Amino acid sequence: MYADIIIDISHEKLDRVFQYRIPEEMLAHLVIGMQVQVPFGGGNTLRTGYVVDISERADYDVNKIKNIAGIVENSVPIESQLIALAAWMRRNYGGTMNQALKTVIPVKRKEQLKKKRTVMLALTDMAEAKSLLAELERKHRTARARLLAALLENPCIDYEVVTHKLNITAAVLRGMEEQGVIRIVSEDCYRNPVSHLTKQGYDIILNEQQQAVVDAIDADFQAGQYDNYLLQGVTGSGKTEVYMELIARAAKKGRSSIVLIPEIALTFQTVMRFYNRFGDRVSILHSRLSQGERYDQFLRAKNGELDVMIGPRSALFTPFSNLGYMIIDEEHESSYKSETVPRYHARETAIARGRMAGASVILGSATPSMESSYRAQKGLLKRFYLTNRAKDESRLPSCYVTDLREELRSGNRSILSRQLQELMEDRLKRQEQIMLFLNRRGMAGFVSCRECGEAVKCPHCDVSLSLHTGGKLKCHYCGYEMPQVTRCPFCGSKYIGGFRAGTQKIEEIVRQRFPGARVLRMDQDSTRTKDSYEKILSAFANEEADILIGTQMIVKGHDFPKVTLVGILAADLSLHASDYRAAERTFQLLTQAAGRAGRGARAGEVVIQTYQPDHYAVQTAKDQDYERFYEQELAYREMMCYPPVWNLLMIAVSSPKEQEADACSLGIGQWLQKNQPLLRIIGPTEASIAKVNDIYRRVIYLKSESYEMLVQAKDGLEKMLSQGLWRQTNVQFDFNPMNGF
Ligand code: ADP
Ligand code: ZN
Ligand code: ZN
Repeated sequence: MYADIIIDISHEKLDRVFQYRIPEEMLAHLVIGMQVQVPFGGGNTLRTGYVVDISERADYDVNKIKNIAGIVENSVPIESQLIALAAWMRRNYGGTMNQALKTVIPVKRKEQLKKKRTVMLALTDMAEAKSLLAELERKHRTARARLLAALLENPCIDYEVVTHKLNITAAVLRGMEEQGVIRIVSEDCYRNPVSHLTKQGYDIILNEQQQAVVDAIDADFQAGQYDNYLLQGVTGSGKTEVYMELIARAAKKGRSSIVLIPEIALTFQTVMRFYNRFGDRVSILHSRLSQGERYDQFLRAKNGELDVMIGPRSALFTPFSNLGYMIIDEEHESSYKSETVPRYHARETAIARGRMAGASVILGSATPSMESSYRAQKGLLKRFYLTNRAKDESRLPSCYVTDLREELRSGNRSILSRQLQELMEDRLKRQEQIMLFLNRRGMAGFVSCRECGEAVKCPHCDVSLSLHTGGKLKCHYCGYEMPQVTRCPFCGSKYIGGFRAGTQKIEEIVRQRFPGARVLRMDQDSTRTKDSYEKILSAFANEEADILIGTQMIVKGHDFPKVTLVGILAADLSLHASDYRAAERTFQLLTQAAGRAGRGARAGEVVIQTYQPDHYAVQTAKDQDYERFYEQELAYREMMCYPPVWNLLMIAVSSPKEQEADACSLGIGQWLQKNQPLLRIIGPTEASIAKVNDIYRRVIYLKSESYEMLVQAKDGLEKMLSQGLWRQTNVQFDFNPMNGF
């Protein structure tokens, strides 16, 4: 047996591994992640390394391979733990050990060595800064005003950007530095990404429900019983306060925690709240950090400078050696599933890390994923509920469902139903705010009837067919196809076709209908530039607009006390997305969107517009009845053998050569039939997008009750594929996928 060993984990390229022989006497207890001593280089000086892989075959001349000298006993440094986690990920999600290692180990890059200069805002009082800006403008000191205005939007700006793009001279910079308006730091600004925030006080006292949850989880923690929890709390019930209290208690014991949030740009408010409580002991990771900056944050974590790391999925690998909690907020979000190899899910990976590290995992959501509820039901997660909104005066909104078929029949062809228009008029009069939400997921080409609301579905799979170019309707799961219909197969209406209406179109309609209203739009187009999220959201929070129109990005986690009306324009759009999670997504989106209404003292109302008012996802969302939704959805998943009851493995095949994509996917299908006859094999078939950038895509689905059997199928296929029969083809595995292929 041979071991792949990395000598220096943080500096060198991770692919630079060295192979050593495992001596007989070590075979029994050497595992991936262990620290070992190995003879290195010509002089055979002993150096410490980590075992990252174990294999039967030698990759080099057997006679030249040296023996491992010894195992470093009793030292389980954080690197070992993360390497072991990488091994777990490789096995459970597929891919190579190298891909897994790169996901979990922060790598130091060359760019890091270059010192960066940054211009920072030194003023902490925003009012003072704003009045200074006004004064500079009045005195026509344009260069100074330009810089200050830029810094008010982004408190840290690269020196190069300031001098080149903003055209600020060194003399001006010096002057402003002497005045105490700015600071120039020749160290990385991101060494502490929250240092520019101003810490406000902290004065919340937990309510009874919150306190009960904290006490129960903390009791386990103090007793050294690290467990996995599901915190199911309605929107605005104060889950974040529960997290912070638990983290603070763990920090008193010297334990650090990780908080995952879906997308940092959208949850600035959450970061602020953590900062107010933990000050410099909190850091954040986000997508705008470079590799080097990310590495810095990981270093701070390792050096014990932090109690909390907040970030997206990848923050899960923060190298805390004294991990307390891993918290996944809005755990139902699909962004917790990686879209690159290894396609891990943060939820399961957190639980695996918790088991290795002796740490607890808390999953939080108002609308838990089917997976988490199912596990809670089976006793694999301890569930706690928060049933009320935390603020005394705030209560859950009233929901109405309007039937868009009815609107059409009475001659209203507008995307705004009469009820929604009336309520909008009323709110504008009362100077309260409105959010209009367009659910865009699954817009791509499902076909539905505007008269009866039915969508054309696959007879074998119970998912909607998608309209392909050339006028064919296809099933993305089994490959079934039929010609496009001109009349509804259910009611005979000719009002059948693809549904399309973008946010831009809606903005137009709203402006026409309510000419006096101030309208903001937030979607992919209006948020291309850096910080545009924050700008739009803060403009809306400052009541610079009456109506905010947007896609799913406006439903997440914001607290606008003045919003008393939420309109969901077409609830159906995600119901028809051609995958088995469509109803779950719709329910989650509707519930979360409804949760934006009435967060302040004034009661809120929600209008859900739909062509399918009787669909259980719409009905249960209207009643905010999670349990009823869960039961119906579980019955469907059980019947169709879908996750979380069964497990699903998607095998995605792609190749620039169509023939090879076909040959490879057929080859995989045949291999499976021969070697894994107990699995249910669906396909191969064309992927939902059969060609992207001239790459041909094919897909095979495997179903099994046992996850382990799917892992074995994956292992077998990886071995079979490594023989190199289809060299121009890429095969990826996706366990219990969030999206189709
Ligand atoms: P969730 O994360 O469950 O959506 P939050 O933690 O964001 O809820 O809380 C919603 C609002 O209620 C926030 O403005 C928060 O500051 C406030 N809040 C939470 N707990 C309390 C409490 N015990 N007393 C007063 N206000 C609270
Ligand atoms: Zn019809
Ligand atoms: Zn089908």
